[in-house]
Amino acid sequence: MLDLTYDAPKPKVIAGAKSDWELVIGLEVHAQVATAAKLFSGASTRFGAEPNSNVAFVDAGMPGMLPVINEGCVAQAVRTGLGLRAEINLFSAFDRKNYFYPDLPQGYQISQLYHPIVGEGEVIVEMGEGIARRVRIERIHLEQDAGKSIHDMDPHMSFVDLNRTGVALMEIVSRPDIRGPEEAAAYVGKLRQIMRYLGTCDGNMQNGNLRADVNVSVCRPGDYEKYQETQDFSHLGTRCEIKNMNSMRFIQAAIDYEARRQIAIREDGGTIDQETRLYDPDRNETRSMRSKEEAHDYRYFPCPDLLPLEIDQGWVDDIAAGLPELPDQKKARFITDFGLSDYDASVLTAEAENAAYFEEVADGADGKLAANWVINELFGRLKKDDDKGISESPVSPAQLRGIISLITGGDISGKIAKDLFEIVYTEGGDPAEIVTARGMKQVTDTGAIEAAVDQIIADNPAQVEKAKVNPKLAGWFVGQVMKATGGKANPKAVNEIVAKKLGG
Ligand code: ADP
Ligand code: MG
Repeated sequence: MLDLTYDAPKPKVIAGAKSDWELVIGLEVHAQVATAAKLFSGASTRFGAEPNSNVAFVDAGMPGMLPVINEGCVAQAVRTGLGLRAEINLFSAFDRKNYFYPDLPQGYQISQLYHPIVGEGEVIVEMGEGIARRVRIERIHLEQDAGKSIHDMDPHMSFVDLNRTGVALMEIVSRPDIRGPEEAAAYVGKLRQIMRYLGTCDGNMQNGNLRADVNVSVCRPGDYEKYQETQDFSHLGTRCEIKNMNSMRFIQAAIDYEARRQIAIREDGGTIDQETRLYDPDRNETRSMRSKEEAHDYRYFPCPDLLPLEIDQGWVDDIAAGLPELPDQKKARFITDFGLSDYDASVLTAEAENAAYFEEVADGADGKLAANWVINELFGRLKKDDDKGISESPVSPAQLRGIISLITGGDISGKIAKDLFEIVYTEGGDPAEIVTARGMKQVTDTGAIEAAVDQIIADNPAQVEKAKVNPKLAGWFVGQVMKATGGKANPKAVNEIVAKKLGG
């Protein structure tokens, strides 16, 4: 396992303030469940479909239509809970959250207020090598997404697209354990990574697949520790909630702005109103949307159309047995098994597909060299090539392993290997065959190298005299030999022979 310290770095003092303040942040993340059909209907969840083409009668709130739970969505929520080492509640139930909005044709959202499907869990967020923060998860509940109002298509009318209406969301609620903007972004990143490994959420923030409500408050040094000891929220400052953030960069900017705003008010002797705010990226500020007094009374009550959800432990155990290796374990294993650095292991395990590709390359090859080639050459080349993903790589793991074994076997130098990689990338083919067919094999034959060195020495008597006084000039001869052999001479052998001949 990773050697992580749980003593988090001290929360940053906020610059510009007259006295010391600390940040306290709790996130409510809405993650769209990766399934083909909606939570209570068989309508498709495909993104980018023609507006209002993926709508069942129940999604449109037609009278008399009844919701039917999608077992696949329930399984995905359980899988997510298990991935976050959380308690799975065998009994959960759906409630109606009543409010009126044009993109909510039912007039209520079906959610799980009183009995969520997943209880307490945790996420370990790394904030640099060996430094980790534990963020507790309070709960995960299943709920329906709303539709989308479109206000910019016509000067006089608004439109509504119900394709998203009824799509399953997991609302993942954290405890207020996050202590800074970078940590908040790292937490969302880690959740996203785990869910992508699990295959329970695509985590595409641009498509609104993963969004966060960010709760921010500030307190005096020492107060957070009192909260931790007692779990009494009165030690913390009043929070504001910034709604619906779908970019890591904006999450950080919004928290930063909000912290400064709250500190300025409190240092002026004012108090913070608990309110819901919206972040405006164009002006980089948050603005009040509604205060606590104006908060909706949702008149929650148990949904009469759905029976409580009762699942059995055997089913949960089956899901647990099918869980993949998760990022933290994989990273730790890469460090031990392949001797990788913390950084390389993080890069390679960021996405499960990258990790799987690397493991195939490293199978029977030098692990560190394989990591180097995957990260620096392959990822770099794919990035230049229209930012391609690993699944679109024209070089297969077997081909890359072939190139690496030609290096370790002494057949080609690292420099020739780069040319070979480019040939394999653009033209395909078997690396060993290409090396033979194109005469790229490294010259290790000392006789041939000696002949080349002798020739250069014979052609450059003046340089030889200078090199006898200044041994550093040997490098020039090495360069000439490499040039004469088209870069194919074994550099180690060339160095040795040049040194011997000049010295002698
Ligand atoms: P609500 O249901 O009104 O949104 P919750 O108690 O469920 O309230 O809290 C919502 C989120 O706010 C949680 O993620 C929680 O961690 C966070 N939170 C609660 N108190 C604070 C606080 N003082 N500062 C920052 N975040 C907070
Ligand atoms: Mg809330």
